[in-house]
Amino acid sequence: MHSSDIEPGLVVILYPGLAGPLRRKIRDRLESYGGEVTAVEGTGRFYLEVRGEVAAIRSLVVESWSGVEKVISLGGEFLHTAADPDRGPEGVEVASVRLGAGSFSIIAGPCAVEDEQRALRIASSVAAAGADLFRGGAYKPRTSPYAFQGLGDAALEILQRVREETGLGIVTEILDPRDVDKIAEVADMLQVGSRNMHNYSLLKELGQTSIPILLKRGFASTIDEFLMAAEYILSGGNSSVILCERGVRCATATDEVVLDLGSIPELKKRTHLPVLVDPSHGSGASYKVPALARAAATVGADGILVEVHDQPEEALSDGAQALTLDQFEELVPQVHEIRAMFEGHISGVSDDLVSTPGGEDR
Ligand code: PEP
Ligand code: MN
Repeated sequence: MHSSDIEPGLVVILYPGLAGPLRRKIRDRLESYGGEVTAVEGTGRFYLEVRGEVAAIRSLVVESWSGVEKVISLGGEFLHTAADPDRGPEGVEVASVRLGAGSFSIIAGPCAVEDEQRALRIASSVAAAGADLFRGGAYKPRTSPYAFQGLGDAALEILQRVREETGLGIVTEILDPRDVDKIAEVADMLQVGSRNMHNYSLLKELGQTSIPILLKRGFASTIDEFLMAAEYILSGGNSSVILCERGVRCATATDEVVLDLGSIPELKKRTHLPVLVDPSHGSGASYKVPALARAAATVGADGILVEVHDQPEEALSDGAQALTLDQFEELVPQVHEIRAMFEGHISGVSDDLVSTPGGEDR
């Protein structure tokens, strides 16, 4: 699609059962700022589609108007990521697990695949504890060229064994666009790491495939940049993208990274894509991981990506942030319980907006 095809707009979602005169008042106010407003009747509520001169309206805090529940931005350049008010979240299917369609999913495993026995031990343990998918890096993007770079091709063979033995779907990182076919033979989802979120040739290449992509937020990236990176993949034709918040660079007294949990409701408001949280890279310290994983469940994430190791003190990478097998087992029921408690308060596109256009509101 060319930029000339882009028709920006807004959808103003009204509270269920809002009385006619109040609906009309909101509509008149939007029109007074130059908007062309169409009222659409959903199940038990109306929403107002606003086209035309929306720039002035965007700068108002319409969300704070009485009777308005939420405002969704349409068009602009966020053509494929923008939340669709006509549809509830469909989610993305990865190895027969549907992420982002209402349930809380857990991807767990070591930072890197280190050896076959260890990978199998961790995988069978996290599977028994309730993990939905297994993660493990074969090609590692390390800060130092002298640090462990991952086992490479040998790790892919191990991941294949893990999949066969445990039945868990596999998530592993891709660094080089030339490796797509090779990795896709064993992986059910390819991870684009934080350092590669701005690697546009890699994103374009992945857009040409139909493999699910786990796109991690660049640690110095804004939400707009994050969504635009997803646009690179989606606009190429690959609709299976899952976002992952993994913390941003910010030096505090003790840390180099701060997990931006506020990005979750922001992303859930702006996009239909599933959103995960990585409390491991988002903290760098295992003692913080359970608390941040529980927080992820309260702010509306669709799941977590968490590093687990049978002997964190021996891990070849990221041992300091890895949960032990026991710690992981303890965490799983907690996040599900929290998620169940907050069900119904999770922001995102409401299911009850499924409707056919029509129902003019005046
Ligand atoms: C990882 O998941 O192992 C990883 C390297 O994460 P990030 O790209 O978020 O640093
Ligand atoms: Mn790691």
